[in-house]
Amino acid sequence: MARRRHVIVGGGTAAINAITTIREIDGGDSEILLVADEKPYSRMVLPYYLAGKIGRSHAMTLGGPRLAALGVTTTHLGRRAVSLDATAKRVALDDGSQLDYDDLLVATGSSPALPEIPGIDGPGVRPFWTLPQADALVGELRPGCEVAMVGAGFIAFTILNALVRRGVRLTLLEIAPTVLPHMVDAAGARIATDWLERHGVGVRTGARLERIEQVAGRRRLWLAGGERLDADAVIVATGVRPNTEWLRGSGIEMGQGILVDAGLRSSAPGVYAAGDVAEALDRVSGARAVHAIEPVAMEHGRIAGANMAGQDRVHAGSIAVNIVDALDLEIASFGALQDAGAESIAAEKEAPLGYRRLFFAGGGERLTGAIILGMSRDLWATNDVGMLKGLVHSGAPLGAWKALLRRDPWDVKRAFVANGTIARLLPETVLGRPSLPAASVTAS
Ligand SMILES: Cc1cc2nc3c(=O)[nH]c(=O)nc-3n(C[C@H](O)[C@H](O)[C@H](O)COP(=O)(O)OP(=O)(O)OC[C@H]3O[C@@H](n4cnc5c(N)ncnc54)[C@H](O)[C@@H]3O)c2cc1C
Repeated sequence: MARRRHVIVGGGTAAINAITTIREIDGGDSEILLVADEKPYSRMVLPYYLAGKIGRSHAMTLGGPRLAALGVTTTHLGRRAVSLDATAKRVALDDGSQLDYDDLLVATGSSPALPEIPGIDGPGVRPFWTLPQADALVGELRPGCEVAMVGAGFIAFTILNALVRRGVRLTLLEIAPTVLPHMVDAAGARIATDWLERHGVGVRTGARLERIEQVAGRRRLWLAGGERLDADAVIVATGVRPNTEWLRGSGIEMGQGILVDAGLRSSAPGVYAAGDVAEALDRVSGARAVHAIEPVAMEHGRIAGANMAGQDRVHAGSIAVNIVDALDLEIASFGALQDAGAESIAAEKEAPLGYRRLFFAGGGERLTGAIILGMSRDLWATNDVGMLKGLVHSGAPLGAWKALLRRDPWDVKRAFVANGTIARLLPETVLGRPSLPAASVTAS
């Protein structure tokens, strides 16, 4: 009997986790074909490469020997999937070849969404999303040179430390009235902005970029209202969108990304989607959403891989989690921050610097979201990020502990422990296997 054939499109985090999970389960008893337009590497570590903290090779993930060990029989590296015939179960590649599949994983990630303005594709103007873009910047940046970052959202903040560490003079241009507009509220944004400015980073909010010109080997950025700014390099970090264009005409149901059920199955038989490209269950709201972050790509990949290997696993849903360190100021937010019906409390302190806002919904009984800013060296800021995230994740009613959190939002530990959060989170692993007490695991 012919072996089952899995085709995986994309070579990032979701794909790697799906491939390893398939092999964990079937031990090699299937064909896996990989199509990826880039050699597999981790995007998330690119800021560390830019900062000079890791070498280029450390960004690479699935190399030839590892692919062979995983029994990936055919690799189409450097090739793009260009269309899908979901009825014939066939993927077409950009070299004209066609791949038949029994099941297909779409793990094509997302790409920068660039503003449509003149000069956005000119020399010295680029997003920071791929390894070649990181290479170009590493080669170009010299201490003292001026960099304009267009956009002051999550991705911009992940690169900020590396740029400052390289000794560049950095200015952030944000069209919204505040920085991190999808991640923090006005008070959090004010604290982040003050902190950056105190550390020499220029912040311009409400700044609408209209065009970029090349002037004497430099870039000139023109803002609405006639203001201008000159820079040696421009980094465009204005958001991302899922890579779904190649599926146009396939009949697969789309929202913002590929709509999938809790098993990561799309509307087409045998077609799964995982990671940045998937619009999947949001654990807090119960609706579907795109959560373009690394841990979600890992979990999606695990669930999709298990189901492709014949199991029947469901994902409990993901939480939008964003955590960045901006020059030693830790900024984190997770869960539902835009829920108009949620009740919230906020508190701020000066020494050590800290701010937090907690959101309660579900009759005001569940913690459904949090914004937290604190010094990275303040152990409690970091610990509380983990505990508040656990409380949101568990979704358990807070009962009497809500009053305590209301009274003193800096005292999270008691609510976390008393609410039994760990026991609620740990009974099973992401694949739905019971988690075992450490002492029960032995060599036999
Ligand atoms: C600078 C930076 C910093 C980040 N920092 C963090 C962080 O701190 N925390 C966090 O949680 N997340 C972070 N992320 C986001 C994280 O990297 C992504 O969420 C994660 O990579 C998503 O994994 P994925 O497998 O869905 O997609 P990707 O890793 O993007 O992989 C998709 C692959 O598919 C390829 N592909 C696309 N279309 C096709 C096609 N038609 N045919 C063949 N191949 C195709 C792509 O080129 C890519 O190689 C960061 C991202 C960047 C760029």
